[in-house]
Amino acid sequence: MALSVIDLYRDILPKTNCKDCGFPTCMAFASMVVSEMHPIKNCPHLTPELVAACEKELDAQYKTGKWLKRDMARDALQWAKEKSASMKMEDLPERIGGRLVEKDGRTGLELPYFKGHIVIFADRVTNAAGAELTRWEQVFIYNHLAQGGRALPTGKWRNFVEFPNTVSKMKSMIDHVEKPLIERFRGRADALAAAALKIGGKDLRSDFPESNVVMRFQPLPRVPVMLMFWDGDDGEDFEAQVKLSFDETVTDHLDIESIMFLSERLRDLLCADE
Ligand code: SF4
Repeated sequence: MALSVIDLYRDILPKTNCKDCGFPTCMAFASMVVSEMHPIKNCPHLTPELVAACEKELDAQYKTGKWLKRDMARDALQWAKEKSASMKMEDLPERIGGRLVEKDGRTGLELPYFKGHIVIFADRVTNAAGAELTRWEQVFIYNHLAQGGRALPTGKWRNFVEFPNTVSKMKSMIDHVEKPLIERFRGRADALAAAALKIGGKDLRSDFPESNVVMRFQPLPRVPVMLMFWDGDDGEDFEAQVKLSFDETVTDHLDIESIMFLSERLRDLLCADE
């Protein structure tokens, strides 16, 4: 018989709200056990026999997903893997770049990724050291494979807002990418340039001398990104600005959600590597 939050609270837990489990109430603890697989043995006021009996019931309901909080990253990764499953590994180097490698008897695609490289297998994506990337980063990579584009960059840059269906994402781009970079680097153009060079940025300022920083990144072989930064002036006649631009072919290789992910990843790397 499955154990709901109410069952657990009403029939199993002591209802003393003693906080020894680290939660403020027995109800809060019950909710975490049922929906997020928090170990029931973390309540020290249950007998070992009762814990064992509950674990048996809980394991059965966890397996069916009953009452478990939806794991968005797991679902998205499953979906992205299924979408990319029809891609033949042998076709990928010609289409998205990289080269085929053999690791532990399996064929993978070694793909340049920012300044390093990753290895893509049918069931997982690892960094150069063999550690699995975060699930959201793997979703991003599998979506890139599944997008199926073959276009090579043309060198014609477009602002994010110039691509179709980006209007609803502009607020996210401003709030999650542009504003954090401005807050971090306002008055510190040299620090931004140094951080960009560290993660493989190529200085293009000589082509755009009106900007304080212009860097071209190559996060993926077919996907260049350009960052432009104009610092504000002390008299505050104009505010600092950051803009990311993408090659006009980017939507052949990434959907809009993936472009957002890539932009946020770039923000993280710039801020972390400073
Ligand atoms: S340790 Fe047990 S009894 Fe105390 S608050 Fe947590 S669940 Fe309730």
